[in-house]
Amino acid sequence: MLKSFLPIPSDSDFSIHNLPLGIFSTEELSARAGMALGNQVIHLAALFEAGLLENQSSELKDALHAPVLNNLIALGPEVWKALRLRVQLLFSERSQSLWGNTRPDSVFVKQDSVQMHLPVAIGDYTDFYSSEYHAANVGAMFRDPQNPLLPNWKHIPVGYHGRSSSIVVSGTDFHRPYGQTKAPTSEIPSFGPSKQVDMELETGFIISRNTNQGSRIGVNEAEDFIFGMLLFNDWSARDLQSWEYVPLGPFLGKNFCSSVSPWLVSMEALKPFRVAMPEKQEPEVLNYIKQENRWTYDIHLEAEFELAHGQKEIITKTNQKYLYWSMNQQLAHHTVNGCPMRIGDLLASGTISGPDPDSLGCLLEITRRGQNPVSFKADGSTRNFMEDGDRITVRGYAEKDGIRVGFGEVTGKLLPPIAF
Ligand code: CA
Repeated sequence: MLKSFLPIPSDSDFSIHNLPLGIFSTEELSARAGMALGNQVIHLAALFEAGLLENQSSELKDALHAPVLNNLIALGPEVWKALRLRVQLLFSERSQSLWGNTRPDSVFVKQDSVQMHLPVAIGDYTDFYSSEYHAANVGAMFRDPQNPLLPNWKHIPVGYHGRSSSIVVSGTDFHRPYGQTKAPTSEIPSFGPSKQVDMELETGFIISRNTNQGSRIGVNEAEDFIFGMLLFNDWSARDLQSWEYVPLGPFLGKNFCSSVSPWLVSMEALKPFRVAMPEKQEPEVLNYIKQENRWTYDIHLEAEFELAHGQKEIITKTNQKYLYWSMNQQLAHHTVNGCPMRIGDLLASGTISGPDPDSLGCLLEITRRGQNPVSFKADGSTRNFMEDGDRITVRGYAEKDGIRVGFGEVTGKLLPPIAF
């Protein structure tokens, strides 16, 4: 098995089989491209300057110094796949002869000494609703337990357009949002801070190619348009959402903040963790989203809830593989009307819930709309939704045959509402 000369713990998300890309800065270095390996960040521009990359083009040099990954992605899959393989080779055992006079420790910095930034300039952001378990649980709570899915759900990968302006990188705290709500017992709405701030455990993928207005991405070629995946937490104000969402869907209950993990895990790194999805969907879907050999990824996902006073508990364990719609189907559906895609666009999965009570992806489901609060074993604290000072951290990884490829984490803390 491929090993690095750097000491990497076996439970590290950032094994030499992963090498995800992100944007980092230090006191000396402006924001630029890096790759995670163990607990280090590989400084790719330094590798370039040392002449250790095979590709010596000025385009690659500029892309590695840029404060977002969009330019690197635009250079195309040959360039970024070769870059990852070259770094893998340089950092593998018995690579000494490749390094010449360069000391390896001059091209990496400790992860805990860098600041991470949004990995890409996100142009447009779409959020799907692709977990059947989640859609059915929510439908049962808000509509009809006997008939929880709306008639379109198994025919359309349902989604909505969000705001990329409110997407932040992991570690960015956010304030409790204000908005309009209406209590069921009240005749009229009122205004104030949300009382029901929730998480939504999701993953997302980043688009790798521009497409033209009017063109479509075919369901069987869609993965060629995906650069990589990340963790996504779509913070949600349930009381705002339930009052505003009819008839046009999510709006201010969603666009106050959404958090992404800083490292983009490539589809090449995830390939060993592909798992088949049921080929036949019932009812049968229309031809343009009928995918041969549907696949997903076996990615373990979990969320940790940390109370303001420091108590922590894992509140859910779920998996990417529980989604009903594949990423190919999401992308094919999204573009079937001719909607253009651009490099850096973010498409998120929707809350990922699984079949078990301990695999639910948001507090709304976990607490059954506040009927069944989360109880913290250590001191008996309870939560229906988040209180000021609470933090939620989502982690994710794939593991097979001793190889681990992980995402790290996406974390965020809820701050009190801003006083106006
Ligand atoms: Ca969502």
